[in-house]
Amino acid sequence: MAEPVGDFGLIGLAVMGQNLVLNMNDHGFTVVVFNRTVSKVSAFLENEAKGTNVVGSESIADLCSKLKRPRRVMLLVKAGKAVDDFMELLFPHLEAGDIIIDGGNSHYPDSIRRTKYVEEKGFLFVGSGVSGGEEGARYGPSLMPGGSTAAWPAIQEIFQAVSAKSDGEPCCEWVGENGAGHYVKMVHNGIEYGDMQLICEAYSLMTNVLGMSNDECAEQFKEWNKGVLDSYLIEITANILAYKEDGDTLVTKIMDKAGQKGTGKWTAQSALEFGTPVTLIGEAVFARALSSMKAERVEASKYLSGPDVPVEKADAGLLKAIEDALYASKIISYAQGYMLLREAAKEFDWNLNYGGIALMWRGGCIIRSKFLGDIRNAFKANPKLTNLLLDKFFKDAIENAQSGWRSTVGLAVKHGVPVPAFTSALSFFDGYRAETLPASLLQAQRDYFGAHTYERVDKPAGEYFHTNWTGTG
Ligand code: NAP
Repeated sequence: MAEPVGDFGLIGLAVMGQNLVLNMNDHGFTVVVFNRTVSKVSAFLENEAKGTNVVGSESIADLCSKLKRPRRVMLLVKAGKAVDDFMELLFPHLEAGDIIIDGGNSHYPDSIRRTKYVEEKGFLFVGSGVSGGEEGARYGPSLMPGGSTAAWPAIQEIFQAVSAKSDGEPCCEWVGENGAGHYVKMVHNGIEYGDMQLICEAYSLMTNVLGMSNDECAEQFKEWNKGVLDSYLIEITANILAYKEDGDTLVTKIMDKAGQKGTGKWTAQSALEFGTPVTLIGEAVFARALSSMKAERVEASKYLSGPDVPVEKADAGLLKAIEDALYASKIISYAQGYMLLREAAKEFDWNLNYGGIALMWRGGCIIRSKFLGDIRNAFKANPKLTNLLLDKFFKDAIENAQSGWRSTVGLAVKHGVPVPAFTSALSFFDGYRAETLPASLLQAQRDYFGAHTYERVDKPAGEYFHTNWTGTG
């Protein structure tokens, strides 16, 4: 039998799989490929992969026979049942220590379950977040691997070689045990929802309150991309707003109904489960939900009215205030995202490297930005930082932006323009920095109607009291 030639196996030759294979090939790895619809293997070899060292296979057995030990096989197939089905097909052809890698958008509880299941069979499992879409996969994605820790030394070289680089460092590090990689990818996607919503709110204020044209907005976003907001999403927003179809800005022809695939919802659900106030991502998910009720909104718009306020002059001061609101809200969103990661780490006993996560997101993925370098620095300076808002850089940044942030929210309220993410971020900030909150009254209400008891500020913590509020019974 011929010596196995393959450094890496990849199953799933759709957009992501094809591009990642070509990326691995560019870096000198020999990849053996397979796909459920087997005809796609030869089609790939004859077209996109023509002239490369990519090796095809006709079956799972053929794929496995062509791989060096330990076998490293990545699945880039539709998340869900397809992953479990392929794992079952692989098992009979694997040996102890071989590694199955799921690079799809799997939900982290599935990766927790799969790690246990695969390890029980004597193999290793990696659930890896892969971000950056088609282009990322081709030229350098952000990779967030977690799962069986023993698998990392065997995949580190190839993962870090093909990943994006930021200041020469790979945007890929070992995230943690079992579902940690997919959890971090999920929070990344939630933050992506938040970033996109914040940009949309800034755009809405620029057009609806300041009366700016799309070309003017495009120029403004281009300008902002040179400062603290420098990021992929601001860059593409400028390009989108400048894009014309038959002389008209294309975005004005696009139906204002947002879709979603569910990863933002998963993040919000996880936040609710852990009781972590990740309000901005929650608002971003709900804002998409409200937008999708188009027919109902059209009806309501004929019936319900708001304030009738004339358009404001788009001067530099108002635009700076909107930039401040966007920046400050973004800081809150990331602070909340990191709070959630911390809770999950506690819950699942993961030893997460928070600075490393910022580095993984710094390049290759959709939320890549200059800002993530500042987050990395904050965790580098203090790996045990409890909250991003307590880091000196971010404390100063939010203090400098605070006045513009508040006036922007005020302006939006005055004009009746919805800015749920700006507003909820500001309310979170005011709540987080408040020594006292009206929860004392809330506790009293709970005790009044339900005898739920309360603690007192003038007694030791952990002592509970109940009052007979009505003096009856
Ligand atoms: P996809 O459309 O999600 O999946 C297509 C691939 O899955 C094909 O190889 C298909 O095989 C296979 N497949 C589908 N159903 C199957 C089943 N029941 N059993 C076995 N195989 C099945 O492909 P993709 O867009 O390249 O994404 C791959 C993974 O990466 C997904 O989990 C996706 O969520 C994730 N992801 C995608 C992006 C992106 O930008 N597209 C970004 C990050 C992560 P056939 O050819 O035989 O149909």
